[in-house]
Amino acid sequence: MKHTRCSANKADGTPCRNFAHARLPHCHYHHQLELRARRRHRALRSRTVRLGILGDGPAILRALNRVLKSLANGSLSPDRAQILLQCISLASRNLPRCG
Ligand SMILES: [Zn+2]
Repeated sequence: MKHTRCSANKADGTPCRNFAHARLPHCHYHHQLELRARRRHRALRSRTVRLGILGDGPAILRALNRVLKSLANGSLSPDRAQILLQCISLASRNLPRCG
């Protein structure tokens, strides 16, 4: 069985000299770092509320629903929700009037 070296670099820029996990390009340490970075990225993405362009009534309703859903499930703080709701309200008041 052939052992390959980890393909990651250490913090100082030099190549990691540890053996890689079987079927993985990194050693245990760098694999754990990568998993931690992925979890952090997923957590940040789940806290992001994508409002989209608030250019018409349906877009404003979608944005409002997203903010309320994020507020309800605890992924958005009341302070941030208030700011977003003020932005949605501002967009709503500035929609072009039909007729
Ligand atoms: Zn490594």
